[in-house]
Amino acid sequence: MSSHAHAAAAGPATDRIPALDPATQEPLGDAPIMGPDEVRAAVARARRAQASWAKTSFRERRAVLRTLMDLTLERHEALCEAAVRDSGKTMVDAALGEVFPVLEKLRYLVAHGEKDLRPETRRSGILAQKGARVEFHPLGVVGVICPWNFPFHNLLCPTAPALFAGNGVVAKVSEHTSWSAEPYLQLLRDALTRHGHDPELVQVVTGYGATGSALVTSGADKIFFTGSPQNGRKVMEAASQGPTDVVLELGGKDPMIVCDDADLDHAVEQAMLGVFTACGQMCVGVERVYVFDAVYDEFVRRVTEGAQRLRQGAPLAGRVVDCGAMTMPRQLDIIEGLLADATAKGARVVVGGERATELGPQFFPPTVLTNVDHSMRIVHEEQFGPVMSILRVSGEEEALRLANDSAYGLGSSVFTKDAARGDRMASKLRTGMTVINDYGIAYMIQSLPFGGVGISGIGRINGREGLRACTNTKAVVTDRVSIGKGVSVYPVQETTYDLVRAICGVVYGGGVRTRAKHAVDAAGLFAREVRARTRG
Ligand code: NAD
Repeated sequence: MSSHAHAAAAGPATDRIPALDPATQEPLGDAPIMGPDEVRAAVARARRAQASWAKTSFRERRAVLRTLMDLTLERHEALCEAAVRDSGKTMVDAALGEVFPVLEKLRYLVAHGEKDLRPETRRSGILAQKGARVEFHPLGVVGVICPWNFPFHNLLCPTAPALFAGNGVVAKVSEHTSWSAEPYLQLLRDALTRHGHDPELVQVVTGYGATGSALVTSGADKIFFTGSPQNGRKVMEAASQGPTDVVLELGGKDPMIVCDDADLDHAVEQAMLGVFTACGQMCVGVERVYVFDAVYDEFVRRVTEGAQRLRQGAPLAGRVVDCGAMTMPRQLDIIEGLLADATAKGARVVVGGERATELGPQFFPPTVLTNVDHSMRIVHEEQFGPVMSILRVSGEEEALRLANDSAYGLGSSVFTKDAARGDRMASKLRTGMTVINDYGIAYMIQSLPFGGVGISGIGRINGREGLRACTNTKAVVTDRVSIGKGVSVYPVQETTYDLVRAICGVVYGGGVRTRAKHAVDAAGLFAREVRARTRG
């Protein structure tokens, strides 16, 4: 995370990760590759700071998050610019995809976080004399492992609820976007320092996969991993050594279904946003568009026109652009491979389709692909690129069958003017989230849990579920009515087993007559039990 000037003078060292602006190829600096000892030391520092943070009130934690919001607004442009330089996205992509959701998350936590974490009374069932409640205690130190696609958001979004729940955080940022971590860490630490808290509560570690792996086995109390399914599996395997609890937010292959009664202008607009925002490098990006036969040709015509109008270029070169660069060079190879497979099997490139080398080595243009079908890899493998794959379907049944024909199951969307049809189709989509007449906005409703099924992940972030996932969800049983001495089982009597069985019959037996019969048995057995105990 050293500065550009330093990197230019020293040159990239082998024990450091070089950072490059994907749009201009300008070197930005470098970051250290940290080993297990450095990771453990970071966890220890966060743990020391967490001891006093755990004792703070919700009011004090709210004040920190409120300041975090204020500082985020004050530094808006610098925060977006850091994301743009590090990841290649446009300023608008950074404002909408990075900062906006973080602010909304902070607003939610400030407004509702305490309600979600207040002790909750539960029914005590047959133990009527007891009170029952759930308390939400801090876990200790939470490890956060981030991907590269939204460097500000990926760091802040798991960190903010973890802090609000009373934890310290050690975050491993992506090796592809480590450079921007410095201003983001500074933002978090400034908010803590302004309220007199130890800034060491939040730590950032840098390095490749091995550094992430070291965090998993560092003794951190829980791991929130966001990344690919392959690495998610490795994280889970390593976490089993603890065992350490994990939440896995993995990839997606989100389907969008456009019915024959959809508002087509709106569906086209949302499909373009879903595919071309951040050049498709989004876990909830729209990767498959299923369009009903009746509106297919018109939909293709409109998205073709729309995609042709998009302007692409270096985001900070002074000209307003709609699309920026791809963050990782490797992603362009992946997209090319998927397009080659699709076209060999009959798909047709209507717009784009080849690297925009005139703009630089890491630009792939907005692309529209038609005649796509499920024999093609592009339908099954995450592409993470600006390619709209369009599939023709005969109607609801086929759309749902094909949309569900995926190992992934993160988000999905249905476009229809018929609310009943929308509800019906939503209930049949095998995904963690479904949005009617929009894409991806489930994320902006922070009261909702966010996560996937299938290889899209395990566990949930966001909402009450995500906030509580940052806690030790502890069951507490108290005396509601003191009944003095508890029921004594020892020493076991000849009648004890039959008595327990009869009591089960009284409580759980079906029908009044059965229960009455067990009650008579229980009363007799109870009297014998008492006599035996008095004698003995
Ligand atoms: P990745 O799996 O390559 O890397 C993610 C992070 O894990 C990086 O910091 C990396 O260094 C680290 N890592 C790699 N191997 C590790 C290991 N064995 N143990 C611990 N950490 C390890 O993913 P990526 O390419 O950076 O990100 C893209 C992926 O992330 C896509 O699949 C995308 O869909 C997914 N993603 C999902 C969500 C979501 O919320 N569901 C959000 C954003 C991105």
